[in-house]
Amino acid sequence: KIRVTALRKAYGDNEVLKGIDVDIAAGEVVCVIGPSGSGKSTFLRCLNRLEDITGGTVVVDGYDLTDKKVDIDTVRRHIGMVFQHFNLFPHMTALENVMLAPIQTKRATKETARETGIELLGRVGLADKKDARPANLSGGQKQRVAIARALAMNPDVMLFDEATSALDPEMVGEVLQVLRDLAAEGMTMVVVTHEMGFAREVSDRVIFMADGHIVEEGTPEEVFGNPQQPRTQDFLRKVL
Ligand code: ATP
Ligand code: MG
Repeated sequence: KIRVTALRKAYGDNEVLKGIDVDIAAGEVVCVIGPSGSGKSTFLRCLNRLEDITGGTVVVDGYDLTDKKVDIDTVRRHIGMVFQHFNLFPHMTALENVMLAPIQTKRATKETARETGIELLGRVGLADKKDARPANLSGGQKQRVAIARALAMNPDVMLFDEATSALDPEMVGEVLQVLRDLAAEGMTMVVVTHEMGFAREVSDRVIFMADGHIVEEGTPEEVFGNPQQPRTQDFLRKVL
């Protein structure tokens, strides 16, 4: 489903991704962990070409993102992304936020978008908040609206970049539960996270990045239980 080959990304002469090779299968849940500045967000952003790729290839659902002929908007429609900061439209209700993209891209009529939106808000536990504006929602609720909004485009892949990092601790659990549910439903997910417990519990595969490289990858049992590389061991000693 996603095939990344020899991916390089540089900002000026600062090479941030130094040759990343990874295949992600349909239905797979991959968590990416690693120290700050190791290139995790940059890697995620290359998967839907929020960043221009310096070298290598990224193929998503058969679309080569480095091919200039590929319509990036078509590709992005298959890929939902959720960030640390939710970026909801403040003047719109939760439901209007979720309905917006399907209507704007003409993927749905207003009626269909509304039905889907209500269903999705129900799925993230916010059926009773559909008419609330972001200012009247908690951080965890806003993030769940952001997830519903991404799901409204019916993506094949969901990318999460530290979706819980900006939340108060008591709200982390409710958002992680939505991710858990999505994983259980078979969604293909790439999750950059500092939540090691979550990564251990939910991932099919854990990727440890450091200094623009994949240093180690494996099952959660392998990476957390028996890390092979000194850098992984060192990192886990600090964060666990
Ligand atoms: P964190 O855990 O802190 O989020 P990260 O692993 O996500 O870190 P990235 O955000 O991918 O790290 O950044 C990797 C490197 O790329 C850093 O050294 C950063 O300074 C640099 N970088 C990121 N974005 C840009 C940019 N737009 N312009 C220049 N340099 C950038
Ligand atoms: Mg980051």
